[in-house]
Amino acid sequence: MSTLLPQADRADVPPAAHLLAVEDLTVEFRTRRGVVHAVNGVDFHLDERETLAILGESGSGKSVTAQAIMGILDTPPGFITRGAIRYRGTDVLTLREEDRRKVRGQKIAMIFQDALSALNPVFSVGWQLGEMARVHRGASRSEAKRAAIELMERVRIPNAAQRVGAYPHEFSGGMRQRIMIAMALALNPDILIADEPTTALDVTVQAQIMQLLAGLQDETGMGLILITHDLGVVADVADRIAVMYAGKIVENARVHDIYARPAHPYSEGLLASIPRVDQRGGKLEAIRGAPPSLIDLPPGCSFHPRCDYRRDNCTRDVPPLYEVSADRGSACHYWQEVLGAQ
Ligand code: SF4
Repeated sequence: MSTLLPQADRADVPPAAHLLAVEDLTVEFRTRRGVVHAVNGVDFHLDERETLAILGESGSGKSVTAQAIMGILDTPPGFITRGAIRYRGTDVLTLREEDRRKVRGQKIAMIFQDALSALNPVFSVGWQLGEMARVHRGASRSEAKRAAIELMERVRIPNAAQRVGAYPHEFSGGMRQRIMIAMALALNPDILIADEPTTALDVTVQAQIMQLLAGLQDETGMGLILITHDLGVVADVADRIAVMYAGKIVENARVHDIYARPAHPYSEGLLASIPRVDQRGGKLEAIRGAPPSLIDLPPGCSFHPRCDYRRDNCTRDVPPLYEVSADRGSACHYWQEVLGAQ
């Protein structure tokens, strides 16, 4: 008999003990075409030195979740309508704007996919990296320049002292992403959110950036949230995965558990669609159909129009997050059958 996990990946740990605990987060966008239900009751936690991968297709709600945590949602049209975002036990949504900004600016940092558009093309990277030291610590120009060089060295940019005056377009894509990471690290955040940090890069550079992030995490003890659509990227670096679909977490598990045997048909589909070195031959399968409209979500399980395991009740009853094991949940009425099918 299945037990319900009252909320996603909830271990028997009080929220205050986690570095970050997101509870029942619900975000909607009020548009002319209707209300877009972008994030629908998402729960997860992150601890120090831990890497949580949030995985899903475009429009699954993963980036909106990150923006809500960072406080960079465009409001309007985006609104957080329910839930809590607890940093070391304190719900930042209940803080005064000024205190909220302090937590989000200094304790939680974020890097984005497109480093070129995130950097200002008319200022040197040294100026942009030194800005944190000037604004937050009142550093002089020469102190800020020294801080910028140190940051560039931390992210292993060669000849940092010579290149500190160069402009963003003078760096390669991989080096620009390193500069973004350096900028995010300037205030020694406890949490780094990396939103598709390697998508625009080629495979070798992707691996270097992931190694760099892992090394920095070892050095600083920060928690890392890695947002990606690519299951291949997270295999070596993440501790846990939360799989999102249509604004909900449909499966959460330790990485090796999900790779060994997914417990949700959507995770199973994602795994079947990536090449694996441990399984030679065989065909890569795409998940049929397309993600649903977030304005008009299907009744019952949102995945039912694409699901091979679907039964009659799936179109009627919304699946809660069932407890598969102590640290694993699946929002599928038939998760036992999915596990048994492998
Ligand atoms: Fe498929 Fe039903 Fe499970 Fe949804 S609840 S994933 S439709 S079997």
